Amino acid sequence: MIRKLSEILLNGSMFDRFDPESEEDFLNFKYCDSRGVVTSVAIASVFLIAGLWIWDWTLDPYHAQDVIPTRLLMCLFMSIYPAAIVTGIRRSFLPWLLGLVVVSIETIFLYHLTLLSGGLLYGFAGFMYWYMLSAFAGLSFTFLESLLLNLSMAIVPNLLVLFGVAPHFDIPLYNALIWPTCCISIFGNLSLDRLYRRLFLYRRHIEAQARTDGLTGITNRSHFVEAAPVVVELCRRHDHPISVLMIDIDHFKKINDRYGHPEGDGVLRHVAETMRNKLRITDLLARYGGEEFVVILPETPPRSALIVAESIRRIIEETPVPMGPDRFIGITISAGVAGYDRLPDSIGLEDLLKQADVNLYEAKKKGRNRVECGVTAHLRPCYPA
Ligand code: GH3
Ligand code: MG
Ligand code: MG
Repeated sequence: MIRKLSEILLNGSMFDRFDPESEEDFLNFKYCDSRGVVTSVAIASVFLIAGLWIWDWTLDPYHAQDVIPTRLLMCLFMSIYPAAIVTGIRRSFLPWLLGLVVVSIETIFLYHLTLLSGGLLYGFAGFMYWYMLSAFAGLSFTFLESLLLNLSMAIVPNLLVLFGVAPHFDIPLYNALIWPTCCISIFGNLSLDRLYRRLFLYRRHIEAQARTDGLTGITNRSHFVEAAPVVVELCRRHDHPISVLMIDIDHFKKINDRYGHPEGDGVLRHVAETMRNKLRITDLLARYGGEEFVVILPETPPRSALIVAESIRRIIEETPVPMGPDRFIGITISAGVAGYDRLPDSIGLEDLLKQADVNLYEAKKKGRNRVECGVTAHLRPCYPA
């Protein structure tokens, strides 16, 4: 029983935290996702505060006219928050801004209650409404920020009374009602924070899966199609060199036929892993088709790309792939290289891929297990002398 309870508590720990970089991503994700709801709730609050004049009128029809200015002032302060979000204020300023808005409105509200007969007695409900709003308004805050906001919301009326704003306000009764509400609100914030953390992790996992080839763990073709044009355009913009490699495993069908499909998969994983280890972190390696790979090498002239392709070809030729216990097979690859020292305006990603593919075809035609780069007219022969 106790073990089960501790398991539940540990499993459902309310204080999960990410590493600092992920935490920042998480807060931005939470902010972007909740901005619409928070803004709508804040705008609705402006109308709610205005509409509660009906409450003033029901309580004290004789003084209801007198409190219209304080109601309007509260509306004005409340509208600052959605306005700040809409104008794109930095996320880190929001808790401070909301804190200021809340403190101002609470001060005006307490003064407002003193103007109504019976206001100080029945006005507790107003303070409790705040907590329902805070759970939404602080949706994009860190838990610590929400905690501070909740605590200050409960404490401020105590301080106001201490400084003589509303000496007849029943502080013991207020505290008896407000602290349980404050605790419920803090738990609400915690639970929402935790749900968002789960959502963030699931989203990150799904996004990573959508970008990755399930078999080899490298970039898949659909993400390559999205990411590669950005790399190409960056190199074009800065007049930097760029190269592309098309790499294909030789006679792969025979490997599948002789050893079986699962072993063929192992060969694909081996080739992908070998290439990944040989390339720079800034190079974009992707599985382009069944046993065909593509690499974009930014900041790399074709002469250097040829050396990279040749070193990949050599290491794959020299590293036999384990096929079960005490059994290894040798494999080879062919590669086509295309690239430019400065990318002309007329050449796009499609052209680069086509040129590399033509050169790959040439490598296959010339007997496989080789790298070709000079077939296309505008590529100067670039084999090292
Ligand atoms: P070449 O030297 O001309 O490239 O000949 P090849 O046999 O490598 O090329 P071919 O296009 O004739 O055959 C490619 C084979 O790759 C056929 C297909 O069954 C296999 N293949 C494609 N995707 C996968 C995969 O995910 N796993 C495995 N094991 N095999 C795959
Ligand atoms: Mg092949
Ligand atoms: Mg092929």
